[in-house]
Amino acid sequence: MFNKKLIVCSGPSGSGKTTLVNFILQQNLSFKFSISATSRPPRNNEKNKKDYYFFTQNEFKKKIQNDEFIEYEEVYKGIYYGTLKSELNRLWSSHNVVLFDVDVKGGINLKKKYPNETLSIFIKPPSINILKERLKKRKTETNKNLKIRINKAKKEILFASKFDIIIINDNLKKSKNHLLDKIKLFLKQK
Ligand code: 5GP
Repeated sequence: MFNKKLIVCSGPSGSGKTTLVNFILQQNLSFKFSISATSRPPRNNEKNKKDYYFFTQNEFKKKIQNDEFIEYEEVYKGIYYGTLKSELNRLWSSHNVVLFDVDVKGGINLKKKYPNETLSIFIKPPSINILKERLKKRKTETNKNLKIRINKAKKEILFASKFDIIIINDNLKKSKNHLLDKIKLFLKQK
């Protein structure tokens, strides 16, 4: 029988979460990435239905009304992100372990919804100053958005203890190995 499993990675923007998620996806563990829906516009190299399902705010709100989400959050003011029920069903119907990159509230909600099936992981930056530097280097955000993301990060870090494991991402290679070990252990459990 196929046991449904979810691996949920959360943590502040700039914590290295996406890099770690991509690393896990490359490990041939038959994981599939849960493509979220969002109402933010695509960044330069992002593709619809690959990085996100991109919707207008109105389209997104209609989906909320139609109860199409497992979880959703207004992660930034006026910008929604969420996991569609149809996405999870699509991935589970092909018997895959589903990997999520969601914000902290979304991570906590998924764990609440699927307590036994989920390994929830908090990726923590070594410090707020290092987070600031990483976000600046990334050059994807305006100064205003940078401040918003840093303020949000300070709040998110307070919720780290609600996750099954915390990975302090001060050394990428070490974090990758640590994460992979924890995931392999989780997969061995029934
Ligand atoms: P970004 O705009 O940088 O792609 O993502 C912003 C934040 O939204 C990140 O913390 C990301 O993990 C989160 N996010 C992405 N998809 C979802 C989702 O489906 N649900 C929730 N709650 N957060 C999400």
